[in-house]
Amino acid sequence: MSSRIVCKFGGSSVSDARQFEKIKSIIGSDSKRKIVVVSAPGKRHAAETKLTDLFYSVYDLASKGIDFSVPWNLICERYREICRDLNLKTTIGDDLKALEEKLKMRNEVSLDFLVSRGEFLCARIMAEYLGAVFVDAFPMIAFDDRYRVSAESYGAIAESLKDESPVYVVPGFYGKGARGDVKTFTRGGSDITGAILAHAVDAEMYENWTDVSGMLMADPRIVKNPLPIEYVSYREIRELAYSGASVLHDESIAPCRAKNIPINIRNTNRPEDAGTIIGPTPEKANRLITGVAGRKGFSMIYIEKGMMNKEIGFGRRVLGVLENEGLSYELCPSAIDSMSVVVDTHALEAVQQRVLEDIKQQMRPDQIKIFGGISLIATVGHGMTNRIGVAAKLFTALAEQEINIRIIDQGSSQINIIIGVDESQTERAIQAIYGAFVED
Ligand code: ASP
Repeated sequence: MSSRIVCKFGGSSVSDARQFEKIKSIIGSDSKRKIVVVSAPGKRHAAETKLTDLFYSVYDLASKGIDFSVPWNLICERYREICRDLNLKTTIGDDLKALEEKLKMRNEVSLDFLVSRGEFLCARIMAEYLGAVFVDAFPMIAFDDRYRVSAESYGAIAESLKDESPVYVVPGFYGKGARGDVKTFTRGGSDITGAILAHAVDAEMYENWTDVSGMLMADPRIVKNPLPIEYVSYREIRELAYSGASVLHDESIAPCRAKNIPINIRNTNRPEDAGTIIGPTPEKANRLITGVAGRKGFSMIYIEKGMMNKEIGFGRRVLGVLENEGLSYELCPSAIDSMSVVVDTHALEAVQQRVLEDIKQQMRPDQIKIFGGISLIATVGHGMTNRIGVAAKLFTALAEQEINIRIIDQGSSQINIIIGVDESQTERAIQAIYGAFVED
């Protein structure tokens, strides 16, 4: 384990010169902060557009031969403003000019290459401003033909960043595709770059700097002043993925988890806040629950058939129908003669007719129905494991609020209880659960 810390700064943390100054002071305040990963500059205020989205617009227009100067000028102006305000003499103006020329010759620039310039240029400016060493993510991070980060990438990163004395700046979000061209991760992918670097250099910590001071135990739009989460395990954070307001790209957990590297979510605008640590399962949990999160937009496919439990392979064939349609499922509660599969409503809509027909044809059910408008609410915490009365507390709280529970699911690990309620009850259910476990 090296003693270096990898720091990833998200879009809002690099949105203007003032934010760059904050980063300089954050990096300067801890000599272990040696590896910096940046996103493309984000919004300075709600009405603005992130540079990545402007790059997408430019590509869209340029590839149709339409004048792209409006979004393009916004991009150029933003970079120029940052350099001017920081008194830098960087040459990114030349890069932008060359890129513009290429864009005018249609087909010269691929979408991924163009969009990756958001991070590339930001990292170049950051390296100059910090007096750090710029290391490009291309070709250091490479994807295999199944779009996974190749095993060799880790060795290449360790080699490129092996000198422990300098500060390095690496652009997030992209690497080298299987065909040798630039390939981006999915949106928000700079988080993944940071996690991969942390893994490759055996970092002591992966700090993910954003514009919130970590995670909260519930959505603050639903629960008034929810408590911050100081510590959440890698497993719990996966269970809390229902929250919708996730602070981190979900693919950035695994590279850190594989080496037990803690991830610290920090706020660039309030560096004095400790933020949330995501790490290994704790020996002893401080609280009964770590968080409660819910999401609307699920549907339940309900299938009933007499003697279903005797029909070997029934469940596999139902799920096989979903698999054939590329539909993933969230939960699958079953009883002796019935089975329900909970899926994302939006994803189901596109294939609903075929799914129903295939199940009818293959399974010959007595009844098949779809119930829409369901919310799934996950109550999560290692503190619930082997504790008597947890479920009683949860269901009593919901009963007192007269909330009807349509689905119940508790994993055998006992770190989560998932319930399904009508979408209209989501907020009240979350408030009731939070109230019972945290406020009481
Ligand atoms: N710039 C990319 C995006 O907006 C990647 C990132 O910010 O993490 O999705």
